[in-house]
Amino acid sequence: MNERDLHRVVCLMQPNFLDILKRNEADRKVFSLTTFDGGDTIHVRVASTDKSDKKDILTRVAFKVFEELPRQSAKLHLIASSLVAGLADLNQLKIAILVSEDDCVRIFVKPESDKPVEEAAVLCLPNRFHLFNDDGIIDLRLLADRRVAVVGLGSGGSHVAMELTKSGVGKFILVDYDRIELQNVIRHVCGLRDLGRLKTNAMRDRILEKNPFAEIEIYNSDVNNLEQARQIFKGCDIIIAATDNIMSRFNINNLSLELGIVTLYAACSVRASGGQVVRVRPNDGPCFSCVYVDAAMEAVEEEMSSFAQARAAFPPYIGDDEVEANIQVGLSSDIIPVANMLVKVALVELCRGENTALASLEEDLDGSFYMWANRREQEYYHLYSEDSFHKSDEPAILRWYQLRSKRRTDCMICQGMEGSARNRAFFSSKGS
Ligand SMILES: [Zn+2]
Repeated sequence: MNERDLHRVVCLMQPNFLDILKRNEADRKVFSLTTFDGGDTIHVRVASTDKSDKKDILTRVAFKVFEELPRQSAKLHLIASSLVAGLADLNQLKIAILVSEDDCVRIFVKPESDKPVEEAAVLCLPNRFHLFNDDGIIDLRLLADRRVAVVGLGSGGSHVAMELTKSGVGKFILVDYDRIELQNVIRHVCGLRDLGRLKTNAMRDRILEKNPFAEIEIYNSDVNNLEQARQIFKGCDIIIAATDNIMSRFNINNLSLELGIVTLYAACSVRASGGQVVRVRPNDGPCFSCVYVDAAMEAVEEEMSSFAQARAAFPPYIGDDEVEANIQVGLSSDIIPVANMLVKVALVELCRGENTALASLEEDLDGSFYMWANRREQEYYHLYSEDSFHKSDEPAILRWYQLRSKRRTDCMICQGMEGSARNRAFFSSKGS
């Protein structure tokens, strides 16, 4: 077969696509089929939806697994024709996949009802080695096994998840119960095609488009359900708290200290005039609660970018119209610097102690609280005062200020935790 004679390329979008077919799991699954811009490349993915969940699914993909593929082309054509004949007649492109136990694969495409099947070239996904080369500033094998929980997949959280994917992080736990709404789309990683979808599902698909080897667990749940959140976070290397409400951050603080997991918090202030990143290492420096009671944080009014978030912030007797009027959306370009800083701090934490080009950042990013000013507004005035924590340089916008926040001796959260850990250690030791 001469490859130049082939017009169509069928790209199997998952690294284990053939295994899924051979294990017969595909009988129960839905296939998604995409061709962009009328191009010749057809992308096929086994969707995670179970067929039994949805009635009347009209599939456009048929497949057959052989011990050994027939050698004659004519016979393969015949089998492919009869396979596509059994598919729903939507007068759309259909494909037949013929695969042998030893991974030989031939794919035939029937472009429209009145056209014959024609064979397409097959592009099985590149292997891991081709997708990530090891010449970068981080050894990507290092991050492939790191497990990162991202809680809150709004414009900030979705950006963080994407950037960590691009850096090579290979295991994600995505937590959010919201859906992509029209007003989110313009600032979100996901686009209009994801409208109405759960943010977790939409982000899983975006991550897999970059790294089909990524392992992604999704939880469409409220992190304020502590028992469930505790189970979700167990075994994580780092937690990214990108939620839009303060209660969830305090709850994540409690859980992460209890489980001993480094946690990073990011928030933008009203209309994203600036933002903060807080890093909490359990039993090493301040916890979120220690930092948050600092005067610098108290004045910060948070950005409210969605109706649900604004509604939760107001008492029930405030009408929806008034709540709506309080939604103050920041520019994406004002949110991204904060999300990027969080990504950077996350990468430093994930690679800490390893010999990477990021090692020097371990010394530079040694604070627990970082503040960014997009504009000279509101709470950022104090960055310009003589008493500000940044004294060595002319104050300026569009830069990071690092605050060496101390652990508070009267912190009810982390001091209490340490006390109980000490007590547990004391009472569980047998003594000599
Ligand atoms: Zn504390």
